[in-house]
Amino acid sequence: PRTLPEFADAARAHGDAPFLVGEDGTVYTYRLFLRAARALARRLAGAYGLRPGDRAVIAGRNHPEWQVAFWAAQFAGLVAVPLNAWWTAGECAYALDDCAPGVLLADDERVRLLGGWASRNGVPCLDFRAAAREAAAHACEGAGCAGGTVPDACGGVPDACGGAGCEGGSAAPALPVVRPDDDATILYTSGTTGRPKGAVATHSAQVAAAMNPRYQAAAAALDRGGAPATARPPVSLTTFPFFHAAAFTSVYAVMAAGGTLVLMRRWDAAKALDLVDRHRVTHYAGVPATALQLLDAAAGRRLATLTNLNTGGAPAPPALVRRLTDAYGDRIEPRNGYGLTETCGGVLAHYGEAYRRRPDSVGRPTPVTETRVAGPDGRPLPDGETGELLLRGQSLVRGYWRNPEATAAAFTADGWFRTGDLAVVREDGRISVVDRVKDVVIRGGENVYCAEVEAALYGHPAVAEAAVVGVPHPVLGEEVAAVVRLREASGTVTAGELRAHAARGLAAYKVPAHVVLQDLPLPRNAGGKVLKDRLRDALAAAGG
Ligand code: ATP
Repeated sequence: PRTLPEFADAARAHGDAPFLVGEDGTVYTYRLFLRAARALARRLAGAYGLRPGDRAVIAGRNHPEWQVAFWAAQFAGLVAVPLNAWWTAGECAYALDDCAPGVLLADDERVRLLGGWASRNGVPCLDFRAAAREAAAHACEGAGCAGGTVPDACGGVPDACGGAGCEGGSAAPALPVVRPDDDATILYTSGTTGRPKGAVATHSAQVAAAMNPRYQAAAAALDRGGAPATARPPVSLTTFPFFHAAAFTSVYAVMAAGGTLVLMRRWDAAKALDLVDRHRVTHYAGVPATALQLLDAAAGRRLATLTNLNTGGAPAPPALVRRLTDAYGDRIEPRNGYGLTETCGGVLAHYGEAYRRRPDSVGRPTPVTETRVAGPDGRPLPDGETGELLLRGQSLVRGYWRNPEATAAAFTADGWFRTGDLAVVREDGRISVVDRVKDVVIRGGENVYCAEVEAALYGHPAVAEAAVVGVPHPVLGEEVAAVVRLREASGTVTAGELRAHAARGLAAYKVPAHVVLQDLPLPRNAGGKVLKDRLRDALAAAGG
């Protein structure tokens, strides 16, 4: 495939296999999904008069119809703009003003949230769940068609289906031809490093991203001596929010394999365990924080059908793999995917035995991705030295929406994208991300990498969550501080014990001077990253 509509059309081969299973039990087979997406696309182009290149905002939680709306936009040649479902009306308005959409496709909560903006700006706002169901009920896209008595008589081809009022397909607008260089998506960065920016990906970039999981699956199979991961198509409990690039990787992988996506509206570990049992889930895909909670809730007993635990989008503490292996041996294969909004999902991957042996790594790049670890002058550093990770390749975005300054700052003249992550190439060629450039704590001139200190804290069995930040210090400039939430029933573990535990594996200057224990979950964004600015502010307010 060269475009997303071509990629989706290839999924037609999966026919009546279930593709999307909503939390409320709604099921879209591949056939129903494609019919609904195409019918909605015709409605967007026809009744709403949207033209190729117009933006279509998709705003909502992980409902099956989110995917129908997204792919409808692709079939109509529109640029889909997934909106963060955690944002307030004000945060949404910033992105809406920025991308100036021609239509909003939203779930009922977002219809209420964005209705004011839509009416002020004269932009139609459709409830995507209702629109998708209505589109699915239509046997063909002929004018006036109220659904065929024989739903599949037309096989999706717009011609007389015999439905009430159907005038055949001639009156239905033809869907546009989409070209590889056309823009397909604008994904807003989460804004942890400033105002969100709209990262624009072409169809070629998204299709390259869609092939990444295939390369990874092939490489993983080679490592297993050619054995497939599972004998049947994957059933994936995907808890990455759909508006996040990491979710795209899961959706593409499942679509290409003819598998099933099991969805949750909102994360809940106990509910996730039930869904795994009920749908015989084989793959879990989510941020490391939810994967850790899943393992905690399962307590080594459940997850009988699971064969793969895929995490990505945020640093995975090495303790995640250790806890998985301690509880399940090698039955459940761990996988860690590294990527950014700007790479349209995972572009480095680490899995299986290699991941178990080296749990502090994100593995190797996929064939469409080049990596470079560079010094401050942009020149490549020798393996083993820590520098900024630069990426180049087919799945990268072409820049930021109407923001040439930000685009120029993010890319080098020869097309390398600056990730803002510090990384090192290990002796086996695999890459470890040691910290984000802006999160490094500089204590008395020494660099302390938060991820390393967090990994040491996670090594204590009582630790459920740990985040390390720098706090101001009058002499040293910065001092290392940690905020920790303990696992339930870990009773009397004290801050002093955690410091002593960290000191067993770390040089003294890296051991957190302050360890603050809290009962509340750490504040995180939708991509699973701890909101470190918020922790720094809270620690400063509490007097360090
Ligand atoms: P903003 O650019 O607005 O700050 P963001 O960087 O949080 O937003 P994303 O593009 O979702 O938004 O996140 C990409 C970052 O997530 C990477 O640069 C890296 O720091 C981190 N990351 C993603 N996957 C992994 C992983 N597997 N291991 C370690 N870090 C990861």
